[in-house]
Amino acid sequence: MKMLLGGEWVDRDRTIEVTDPYDDSLVDTVPQATVEDVHVAFDHAQRGFETARKMGVYERGEVLRRTAEIVRGDLEEFARLIAREGSKTIREARKEAERCVNTLTVSAEEAKRIMGETIPFDSFPGGENRRGFYYRFPIGVVLAITPFNDPLNLVAHKLGPAFAAGNSVVLKPATVTPLSALKLASAFLEAGLPPLGLQVITGAGSEIGDALVKDERARMISFTGGVETGERIARIAGIKKLGMELGSNSPVIVWKDADLEMAVESCLSGAFWAAGQNCLGVQRLYVHGDLYDAFREDFVKRTSQYRIGDKLREETDMGPMITKEEAKRVEAWIEEATKMGAQVLTGGKREGALVEPTVLERVPETAKIHRKEVFGPTVNLYPVSDLEEALAKANSLPYGLHAAFFTKSVDVAFKAAYGLDCGGVMINDSTDYRLDSMPFGGVKSSGLGREGIKFALQEMTEPKVVCFNLTQS
Ligand code: NAD
Repeated sequence: MKMLLGGEWVDRDRTIEVTDPYDDSLVDTVPQATVEDVHVAFDHAQRGFETARKMGVYERGEVLRRTAEIVRGDLEEFARLIAREGSKTIREARKEAERCVNTLTVSAEEAKRIMGETIPFDSFPGGENRRGFYYRFPIGVVLAITPFNDPLNLVAHKLGPAFAAGNSVVLKPATVTPLSALKLASAFLEAGLPPLGLQVITGAGSEIGDALVKDERARMISFTGGVETGERIARIAGIKKLGMELGSNSPVIVWKDADLEMAVESCLSGAFWAAGQNCLGVQRLYVHGDLYDAFREDFVKRTSQYRIGDKLREETDMGPMITKEEAKRVEAWIEEATKMGAQVLTGGKREGALVEPTVLERVPETAKIHRKEVFGPTVNLYPVSDLEEALAKANSLPYGLHAAFFTKSVDVAFKAAYGLDCGGVMINDSTDYRLDSMPFGGVKSSGLGREGIKFALQEMTEPKVVCFNLTQS
């Protein structure tokens, strides 16, 4: 596929091979953009903004609605592309494509709800003759940088609200999974987006990342990715708005009165969805002592029944990790933990990029697989007996995207909801629950600002005050 610059699909001599991590087969190639391409992209984007800002709200909504229809009409092809270029099974990929339709549809609706307020200027002496209001205006060129694990819907989470607001966008999709984003860009053009409204630049973050981030024409960087990359971006970005959706190490607490079947079922999916490469993935499972043995037995048994392998087969439950190197990193973390005294209850082995779904017990708090974001198909079990202790352990790391709590008691659920330090607490669901229109984001190192269309729209617009000093009131 080609990249999108100045309304044209362009190629470059140097290319990047996009391969299927399951069997290393070539899916496609994309151009390897240069720093010069970055400068050109922002030239176009700035002109694109002049067009986008003048589009009526109705027009912006129509482009988004039509794009959603195009994706809906081509759902299976989008799903196959997601499954081929990334880690998701075809069933997981279909869900992502459906969510993308929803994200774009809600963006079209929210475009009509960008509102302001009148301001009571006469609330301070001297303001008697003043009348006015504020309205939210587009921020300008948005630089969107996205990760590999949801290569379509996380792109839609940036393009949808950015276009709803009247901005233009320079998008850099993940180096390893750029194809779904390019196909979405093509849908936007077909739906009538002004040709300079969107630039999609494909290339390695290490090569073009700094030039993208430092460009003064970007008024906002909307980044989703790892904490380390986010920190680097924040250090060099200069004066521009930052939206940061970063990583986590999500805790789940299963209380003594929890519905065991429900807890096991949702934590399995939460831990192993997309081979654990999920910012909301369940990594630490704190289970009350009264339920611990029963939970462990069922959870381990059902983990060992997971069918792993070919992502395009309907029956496959879990695919490979994104690269062999990433799989080797997770294998090394498991080895480190076992050397420190942890026990593998099931899984633990790797073949190529496939890592078995793995459950660990007695993991020391100094092990990487406890303290850092594993971003792989492993989960640690810990017994707990006291609520304060469970909440303190859940809060003990410098991350805070989602946390989850299983209980039948409303009182305990409220205590947990108020006591957990994070952007979202799921009661009787694993951490891996998200509705695309809810406020989504993290506290501590997990991020800055919120996405979720309406909330991203706030971040991607600026209030402008208009004040009339009337000669007569
Ligand atoms: P990553 O940080 O390696 O890469 C993310 C994006 O940044 C890619 O497009 C990459 O090419 C680009 N990039 C890399 N170096 C750059 C630089 N110096 N300057 C500018 N851009 C640069 O992350 P990843 O491995 O693709 O994704 C996994 C991470 O993303 C995990 O930590 C996960 O938790 C996080 N994530 C967070 C959310 C969320 O909503 N909070 C959602 C999905 C993934």
